[in-house]
Amino acid sequence: MKPDIAYQPDSGKSGWVGILSERHPNPALKADREADYCVVGAGFAGLAAARRILLLNPKASVVILEATQVGSGPAGRNSGFMIDLPHVLSSSSYAGETGTDRRDIKLNRRAIDFVNNMVCEFKMPEESFRAEGKINGAASQKGLRANNEYAEHLDKLGEPCELLDKQTMESITGSSYYLGGLHSPGCAMIQPAMLVQGIAGGLSAYENCRIYEQTQVQAIHKQGDRWNLSTPGGSVLANKVILAVNGFVENFGYYQRRLMHITLYASMTRELTAGELADLGGEERWGITPSNPFGSTVRKISDSGGHRLLIRNRFSYDPSLTLIDNQIEAAEADHLSAFVARFPMLSHVPMEYRWSGRLCLSRNHVWALGEVAENLYSACCQNGLGATKGIIAGIIAAELASECKVNSMMPEFQTGEIPQKLLLEPFMTKGARVYLKLREWQAGKDK
Ligand SMILES: Cc1cc2nc3c(=O)[nH]c(=O)nc-3n(C[C@H](O)[C@H](O)[C@H](O)COP(=O)(O)OP(=O)(O)OC[C@H]3O[C@@H](n4cnc5c(N)ncnc54)[C@H](O)[C@@H]3O)c2cc1C
Repeated sequence: MKPDIAYQPDSGKSGWVGILSERHPNPALKADREADYCVVGAGFAGLAAARRILLLNPKASVVILEATQVGSGPAGRNSGFMIDLPHVLSSSSYAGETGTDRRDIKLNRRAIDFVNNMVCEFKMPEESFRAEGKINGAASQKGLRANNEYAEHLDKLGEPCELLDKQTMESITGSSYYLGGLHSPGCAMIQPAMLVQGIAGGLSAYENCRIYEQTQVQAIHKQGDRWNLSTPGGSVLANKVILAVNGFVENFGYYQRRLMHITLYASMTRELTAGELADLGGEERWGITPSNPFGSTVRKISDSGGHRLLIRNRFSYDPSLTLIDNQIEAAEADHLSAFVARFPMLSHVPMEYRWSGRLCLSRNHVWALGEVAENLYSACCQNGLGATKGIIAGIIAAELASECKVNSMMPEFQTGEIPQKLLLEPFMTKGARVYLKLREWQAGKDK
């Protein structure tokens, strides 16, 4: 029988998973189970939801169902910037509207603290989460202007930041490519796969929380006043369900034609040798987001997986949630040209991993978050800043499901606005693709 709810994993092996030592995943569901709460999806939102439920209802039974292995979904295949500041992708410099930005910073920082608490409590390795800050790198005059504009905006918000000159950028990155930078201290740099696997490990230690991996929810229906979720090996009958499946929430029948599905692409080098590290120079570790939101993100990591560089650029709009096979290969040229332009001394170093991952946006930049049917909640559509906003969405959905009316961790969040409808086809897809290409082209040297 064809499953009601389609799912397709992301393409290519995430370098973050590749550089970890082998892990034994939790087994797939192979029996019928009952639970107070069932969380679908073990990304940032799903894991945060489960954790918040357990904090609010220590005796509740919680089952988490994940279609792939923890860390293999987008939560383990991103660039690893858990950003506290405004990060509006449609803007020229990430700045948003002052009032909204003030509220978002508060929410983002609570999410980062929430993760930090788990990192400490679950005794995760230091490299999984470091509150080190990040730099917006500018490689063009336009990029420098965007950094200045953003610095002024942060100043108005009372947020500390520091403009860096070309020499300082070179002494940090080893690359003479950047003309300037803007450092902000509040971003946590994560090893995303290690972080989500560590959180999943911590949650599995609770007797009343079970995680089933390689367990795709294929159908969901009401059974009396409970929800029945079918998977290939068994079903879960739950009082309350949280869908933390990001864009796949459409396949569950919610927010249809309201979500924009974007694919992002990243590559990671093989381990750099001692000689290559000396040729590169610069600091041990650093993380650069582009001053232009459509430019290249670059990271240098120096941890248990060795010294490596990561590069992320290129966007594609894929409304069917399925990726055309040759798109990862198409990203290769973009990654290599951005890499060689920044690190000509390493032009011979091959990429060991190349992968893609999906994220989900709405036209009006709001979450797909709230109760979508009786006792069924959505914690989806993180609008690009999924590492932080996914955690926020999971916490809020857990609080709604737990009927936590006082002591909310996210009191500033207001329910109400839902993602705006998309334009009619073919205008939506054509328009989105032209927009992405144009913005990437406008990013110029910052790409
Ligand atoms: C290359 C790349 C770089 C990025 N860089 C950053 C960054 O630096 N900072 C940042 O904040 N964000 C970044 N993002 C975005 C971020 O990774 C996502 O927004 C984030 O992972 C969303 O979290 P989530 O928990 O909502 O969803 P996801 O991480 O997508 O998790 C949803 C989970 O649901 C599971 N699922 C779906 N359907 C089913 C089903 N039927 N049954 C069971 N399970 C199901 C999926 O397998 C998946 O694991 C990046 C994304 C990519 C691809």
